[in-house]
Amino acid sequence: MQAKKSYWRNWLSSITSLATGLSITFRNLRTSIKSKKPVFIKNADYFQQPEGIATIQYPHVSLPIPETGRYKLHNEIDDCIVCDKCVKICPVNCIAIEPIKSPEEFGRTSDGTPKRIYAARFDIDMGKCCFCGLCTTVCPTECLTMTPEFDFSVYDINQHTFSFADMTAAQIEEKKKNWEEHLTQKTVVPSGTGEVKPTRPVFKPKIKPAGEL
Ligand code: SF4
Ligand code: SF4
Repeated sequence: MQAKKSYWRNWLSSITSLATGLSITFRNLRTSIKSKKPVFIKNADYFQQPEGIATIQYPHVSLPIPETGRYKLHNEIDDCIVCDKCVKICPVNCIAIEPIKSPEEFGRTSDGTPKRIYAARFDIDMGKCCFCGLCTTVCPTECLTMTPEFDFSVYDINQHTFSFADMTAAQIEEKKKNWEEHLTQKTVVPSGTGEVKPTRPVFKPKIKPAGEL
């Protein structure tokens, strides 16, 4: 008799559990035809939306991102003065620059800063970047910025190196040659001696004779 009672109690408990589970499933099925509004996490409504599915149909829909977020870097190369500050401050060495000096100013950035160095190479390895933002902070012309682009997944990690320099191989060669010629012209060769005399005065230290104070 006791075993019979226990059997029916278990049966009832199973049916109740099943009914509870199915009611949750059907409730979610009913609300899933609606989608929750993508709202920013700081918004008071973020946890207050009673209905709708929590997931979104990414990439067709995406959540708003913070304006101050740190994502993919961009260098507006026309405004870059190739000062090297971003390279020096980067804690993970993910910025690589090849500068070529120019004998004279060859242009100005949009904020009026003179340009005297060409960028033969300006690469950022976003695969190494830790998104600290230090490089954007030190950039004097504000040409290096974080963009809102956060999804740049690739199959090959080498494709995470982004190049911003836009000089052709011929232009690089020409600018290097110009600078070498400029350096050559800076040395003066007095006629008849064949001696190469530097344009800067040579520093001669004064040496006191031994014993003199
Ligand atoms: S954000 Fe930080 S880690 Fe990334 S390139 Fe700039 S300085 Fe380097
Ligand atoms: S700090 Fe700015 S201006 Fe200087 S090299 Fe880097 S990106 Fe260019």
